[in-house]
Amino acid sequence: MNESQKFETRAVREGRQKTPFREHSTPVFLTSSFVFDDAEQARAMFADEIPGNIYSRFSNPNTTEFIEKLCAMEGTEDGVATASGMAAMFASMAALLSAGDHIIASRSLFGSTHQILNSIFPRFGITHSYVDITAPIEQWEAAIRPETKMLFLETPSNPALDVADLEALGALARKRNLILNVDNCFATPYLQNPARWGAHIVTHSATKFIDGQGRVIAGAILGTRELIKEVRTFTRHTGPSLSPFNAWVLSKSLETLAVRMERHCQNALQLARALEGISGVKSVKYPHLPSHPQYELARKQMKLGGGIVTFEVEGGIERGRNFLNSLKMSSLSANLGDTRTIVTHPASTTHSKLTDEERAAVGICPGTIRVSVGLEDITDIIGDIKQALEVSAK
Ligand SMILES: *Cc1c(COP(=O)(O)O)cnc(C)c1O
Repeated sequence: MNESQKFETRAVREGRQKTPFREHSTPVFLTSSFVFDDAEQARAMFADEIPGNIYSRFSNPNTTEFIEKLCAMEGTEDGVATASGMAAMFASMAALLSAGDHIIASRSLFGSTHQILNSIFPRFGITHSYVDITAPIEQWEAAIRPETKMLFLETPSNPALDVADLEALGALARKRNLILNVDNCFATPYLQNPARWGAHIVTHSATKFIDGQGRVIAGAILGTRELIKEVRTFTRHTGPSLSPFNAWVLSKSLETLAVRMERHCQNALQLARALEGISGVKSVKYPHLPSHPQYELARKQMKLGGGIVTFEVEGGIERGRNFLNSLKMSSLSANLGDTRTIVTHPASTTHSKLTDEERAAVGICPGTIRVSVGLEDITDIIGDIKQALEVSAK
């Protein structure tokens, strides 16, 4: 690993040794197992005395390359690739917690992460408390109990794009000896490195901007060598491994992450600016828009504002649905982080199972619209959204 190289260079150049065929681009290693030279090598690899691939549930050259690149980008020591983002969220908690332990989580979490905390972990005796993502650090500290082991959060949050103070949370975790686990999916390692502020574990859904082209489901758990050792033992035996093919796709994706994120963010900022002041739009939220309530904090910990813009249309749930039906180019999909612009109406889809009060608590109004801004020309993106706002106003 060449630590003096810049992010973009390492994303492209970090990689595996070549096979005897001297290929330039890493091939796919679709093999379930690996052969040993002799009985002694087999013994030593099983005993962890020497490194090496044994079986693709444990490790594989493609997943290793993907993880080594991600670690170089996040500034973490080690990591494990998983079959989905949710496998990463679950394993990063289940591997490090036991019955009787307590998690403090931000209230605005990805829906399935809520399900793990609310419905699955209580069956195994792991409990949690929620704190508002923007709550002052004293409120996070006040929620700590003797049995608290982990702080878990996503920043920026989905879909409200509120920002958590990573430096303050890192300091609190250090002071109270807690594991800080940050889902960095929305920002990607190009925009934000939670480990730099003290996160011990950084989790990802690689399905979103890391793939960036809407092809594969994947995740990653990155962190300190000591904690990842525990996580690796857990995933080795429980089996949420990433397929070598998907890891190969994602390793190529990382080579273009920086240039894609630059354009996603540039388009998103231009869309956010264009939406401010348009009739029919009540409010616009984007971390690097000066009107964002945590603009300074977002500027401090995020290199650029991200690829997601959230705004509120006047007229509530009906207008929101009419707006969606009036779009001509943007895709209606629950996914995000794609080359194609995707528009979502959280109140009637991703967050429809919550009550009005629960939605309000995580910053979702009936007219909230989430845009995952794609890589189309910005004039076409703004044009589509403007015309849909006009048509749906009639
Ligand atoms: C999508 C997403 C997940 C879940 O990832 P999958 O790859 O769909 O399993 C977790 N956290 C956040 C913030 C997400 O956007």
